[in-house]
Amino acid sequence: MAEKPIPGLAKLEQSVGVLAGVGPAKKEALAKLGVECVGDLVRLWPRAYQNRGDTKSLLEIADRLRNGETGPFSTVLTVSAEPQTRYIRRGMVITKVRAFDGTGSAEITWFNQPYVAQRIHTGETYRFFGRFAWEYNRVQINSPISEPWREDLPLPAIVPVYPVSQGLTQRFVSDAVLSALRYAGDELTETLPTDALEEMRLPSFGYTVRAIHRPADVSEMETARRRLVFEELYYMFLSMALTGAASRQASGPLKLADTDLSDFLAALPFSLTGAQARSVGEIVSDMAGENLMNRILTGDVGSGKTVVAAAAMYAAVKNGFRAVLMAPTEILANQHAEDLSKLFGTLGVKTALLTGSTKKKERAAILEGLRGGGEIKIVVGTHALLTEDVVIGDLGLAVIDEQHRFGVHQRAALFDKAKNVHCLVMSATPIPRTLTLAAYGMIDVSRIDELPAGRQKIDTFIVNETYRERLNGFIRKQAAEGHQTYVVCPAVEESEKGNDTDAEEMADLPLVDAIPEEGAPMKSAVQHADELAEALPELNVGFVHGKLKSSEKDRVMAEFAAGNLDVLVSTTVIEVGVNVPNATLMIVENAERFGLSQLHQLRGRVGRGTAKSYFILVSDSTKPEAQDRLRAVKSTTDGFEIAEYDLELRGPGDFFNETGAIRQHGQMNFRLAAACRDPHMIERASHYARRTAEEDPGMTKPANASAARRLASFTRRTEKTQN
Ligand code: ADP
Ligand code: MG
Repeated sequence: MAEKPIPGLAKLEQSVGVLAGVGPAKKEALAKLGVECVGDLVRLWPRAYQNRGDTKSLLEIADRLRNGETGPFSTVLTVSAEPQTRYIRRGMVITKVRAFDGTGSAEITWFNQPYVAQRIHTGETYRFFGRFAWEYNRVQINSPISEPWREDLPLPAIVPVYPVSQGLTQRFVSDAVLSALRYAGDELTETLPTDALEEMRLPSFGYTVRAIHRPADVSEMETARRRLVFEELYYMFLSMALTGAASRQASGPLKLADTDLSDFLAALPFSLTGAQARSVGEIVSDMAGENLMNRILTGDVGSGKTVVAAAAMYAAVKNGFRAVLMAPTEILANQHAEDLSKLFGTLGVKTALLTGSTKKKERAAILEGLRGGGEIKIVVGTHALLTEDVVIGDLGLAVIDEQHRFGVHQRAALFDKAKNVHCLVMSATPIPRTLTLAAYGMIDVSRIDELPAGRQKIDTFIVNETYRERLNGFIRKQAAEGHQTYVVCPAVEESEKGNDTDAEEMADLPLVDAIPEEGAPMKSAVQHADELAEALPELNVGFVHGKLKSSEKDRVMAEFAAGNLDVLVSTTVIEVGVNVPNATLMIVENAERFGLSQLHQLRGRVGRGTAKSYFILVSDSTKPEAQDRLRAVKSTTDGFEIAEYDLELRGPGDFFNETGAIRQHGQMNFRLAAACRDPHMIERASHYARRTAEEDPGMTKPANASAARRLASFTRRTEKTQN
């Protein structure tokens, strides 16, 4: 029995439970993908497509296989004998069948899918799609997808592949998407400016969603995709333009009079790099200007952003204001508090740390110290700072570290706190110069494009699966020397690999897509941790990933930081912020699945101490593009250069939504971005977005009502992909 729709709520915002066939269990499984409402399903973009329509004869396939191609292929065959099922070893079942066309015959084998025997009948014709091999002088087909073939009822040529999680099959998700489209019907309204669509020759939203989920051919899919690229860019720029517009207000009494930082600089144990000094200059001149500062400070991990932010805080304090630094996790907040209390201690400026773990009594004392004449001038903390009872008197500057890691509600509260004060966002996401040109005028950017002198170089290697034993040996060696290792995997759990037991599940096949999708099995953090623990019994192996409770995550991270774990297996949750100088080795599994900037940021997690450090990319991909990308990471350590290269390859989407390479939701972003190599598109999207923001800064005009909803879901979705 389907859930009742909530009256007064738009159809797109109704829970997925209103759709027939989506019961509580499926609802929960969908939620794991970040799908909660009907609109989420409508926008659950396929992560790839299978081109099953391009059927070939067995003769041609045999030729291609002998030439080293591996497919996937699609072929139409007639079954010549009843399937034979055999039980081999414990729990292993294989089902074999022979089939033929006018040019030859093939042997088809399914592993552990005994039920296919019931679906495949002698004399019937099927379309088989999957992985083929040339063995024993014959075409062998392994666990293909089979679809009954009828001349009069053509099968779809292009089949979407959706992200799935445990408890979901491709078929279920695909059907659910269709019922969502039917349910939403007339509410799939256009949210882009008409003249933008005309100028860019883009299809309507209605056409787009149909074509993206059920394309008749490749060109329809491409047309739809182009529109989604534009839309993604437009909303990205719109959300930036709207925040930028809001905070570009007169600085009034917050305009700093005294900008002399010589005593601060003298207290530092080092001198600033040129890039740091330039950034400090830009920040101070903002704060001494007519408008409130709204600036991003970007620079590689380890480039020294904290001390630049500290200079800004010192300038605020010197002028009689307080400053706050907000970090997305407790670990980061602790680290900042420690650094800043050391630095400001020598300058006689009192700092404090306020997080969820701060004891009640201490918290009360801190709140007291932050009032009017209180002596605490700088407070560092997590979102615990955002509760109502925290009132910071004379607040002049809010520094936000890695703001994309905060949830949206927190972010709203954050910017609410920072609304009438100078605002500085720190980010390790390198924003490429070319992109910033377009975004310019929305937020100002300072770049630290130079590392402090004397940093050691991290050696980067690219290896494949044949190195597994040696990799394990290398981990052992690091541990024997008292050092620690990070191992990063693209997926959290087995199910994300897509090799479900359903015969229709072929999600890990190479696909029609710009992004290389390898057949190579994808390492999942959970299983890989198991394997490593088995291979390295003498070591302590732990794992963390975004699906763990945050208290559990923090606990494991703390164990690793304390040196109690030799190996930490994780997804990209460790990408930002943790500082474990004793970690000297990072191994990235299925490296081809990660964005370049992301790999670069991961690399920054090692080499933080004095010991020689290594970054090893494991990839079995033989695709030239994949190899080129990995070589780019090996060949340069300049984050901005890598970002440029990444932009060229993928487009901008990910720079503002930097997350896991394998998204739980909104995965299309990644792919969309791949389709977007068009600076003109970026430029036009920012033009129209800026115009909308200027015409309707509050997004309150009735004509913008559905765009405003879309914007809200854009930010909500961004939030969901952040863990
Ligand atoms: P990130 O940009 O990743 O936040 P941090 O601010 O944490 O980098 O700085 C990394 C390390 O570099 C810190 O230990 C800091 O003290 C040190 N550092 C920063 N600037 C300089 C400098 N100009 N010279 C030497 N060391 C520096
Ligand atoms: Mg930092």
